[in-house]
Amino acid sequence: MENLSQIDIKSHLHPFTPISEDRTPGRIVDHAEGIRIRDQHGRTYVDAISGLWCVNVGYGNRQIADAIQQASRTVSFAPTMFGASNEYATRLADRLLRLCSGASGMRKVFFGHSGSDANETALKLARLYFLASGQPMRTKFISCWDSYHGTTLATASLSGLPGHHRNFALPDPSFLHVSAPDVFDALTRRGFSSEDDYVDFLVKEMEDTIIAAGGGDKVAAFFVEPLMAVGGILPPPSNYFPRIKEVLDRHDILLVIDDVVCAFGRLGHWFGWETTGVQPDMVSLAKGLTSGCVPMSATLVGERVWSVLEQHQDQIGVFGHGFTMSGHPVAAAAALANIEVIERENLLSKGKDTGNVLLYTVRNATRYIPTVVNVRGRGLLVGIELAGVQASEVAQKCLDLGLIVRAIVGRNTIALAPPLITSEDDILKIVGTIRKVLVESN
Ligand code: PLP
Repeated sequence: MENLSQIDIKSHLHPFTPISEDRTPGRIVDHAEGIRIRDQHGRTYVDAISGLWCVNVGYGNRQIADAIQQASRTVSFAPTMFGASNEYATRLADRLLRLCSGASGMRKVFFGHSGSDANETALKLARLYFLASGQPMRTKFISCWDSYHGTTLATASLSGLPGHHRNFALPDPSFLHVSAPDVFDALTRRGFSSEDDYVDFLVKEMEDTIIAAGGGDKVAAFFVEPLMAVGGILPPPSNYFPRIKEVLDRHDILLVIDDVVCAFGRLGHWFGWETTGVQPDMVSLAKGLTSGCVPMSATLVGERVWSVLEQHQDQIGVFGHGFTMSGHPVAAAAALANIEVIERENLLSKGKDTGNVLLYTVRNATRYIPTVVNVRGRGLLVGIELAGVQASEVAQKCLDLGLIVRAIVGRNTIALAPPLITSEDDILKIVGTIRKVLVESN
């Protein structure tokens, strides 16, 4: 009789996994609770990366589970196409807009089921906006090298990861890339004398890229994360967003914030864009929207875009985009419950405090380890950049000791993104394990 691992290798085509069946079987999780998961062999692990940066309120939250059960009993499905809706999707759209608060200028919410499709929706809305504004030539997009924005043909082009372009004839020529804002690299390896000096360079590079695209009147939008996660945990320089926004405004280019990782408490706020000091035109959400309990995404549409679409409603007619599962009632119920849990348990401020403890503890514990060259982060997103030892080896050794962290190979960085509910005691254990592995790998 085949065991579960053998069945899995034989039958399951996994995302971002070598094609070969001749590989070590992966973990198959059969139980998950709080910040811990258990695999098919009964081994438990502390998950310091929240699944895929998404289990913000921890695994197995009862209130969310109850809401899912209740919704699936009362409205198991009701589409939101053709102007119809269901109670949960309607309430969630309203709830999200209210969370954005009055000053944000967010006007509408579109629902999907993944971060990729949230960005895909924003790409299409950006083109629609410029078509309606009488600027149909604005079809190009700019984003950062090393960024991850999704896996569809368009969002893989938008992502700045050559490994994801390879084999698929990407990126499409409509997509251009600029440097990721990596302050540590700039100041230590690239000879910039200050953050301001570096931001001057990034601003000039943005201008040059707009020119290379054929001019501002060819570019629709710049997509960027508040803090690049998959790209290597890169807190931007303090004036990065205001300075870049000035350039975008001068060329009338939209700013889309990809908040798929950074929202719902990850950076200590409902939305990561609140830390940027600028106002986005659209925002992509997924992952922490339901704390990973069920798939759901949302694209928030700001006043600038919405007012033009509304003004040109006769020209546009139907918004020709959507998914069968857009605004799924069970997913929307999970998201509403997730928001309630974050609010009731005060997880924004708890997460912020725990994040401060995490950064401080990692810095202290790794200060004299020569392979640790930089510790950086904000909220519950912390990166430990290494030299002289491979992050992937360190991650594997942590795993052997029952701790899940993520290795960001391109920046040789260990990424930590524990759930917002992680206790200070667990933070100390997580950091203790990492320290032990790093000291032994020295
Ligand atoms: N945007 C960002 C910033 C992400 O990190 C990811 C996934 O990691 C995505 C978009 C894509 O989300 P999904 O995997 O849900 O399509």
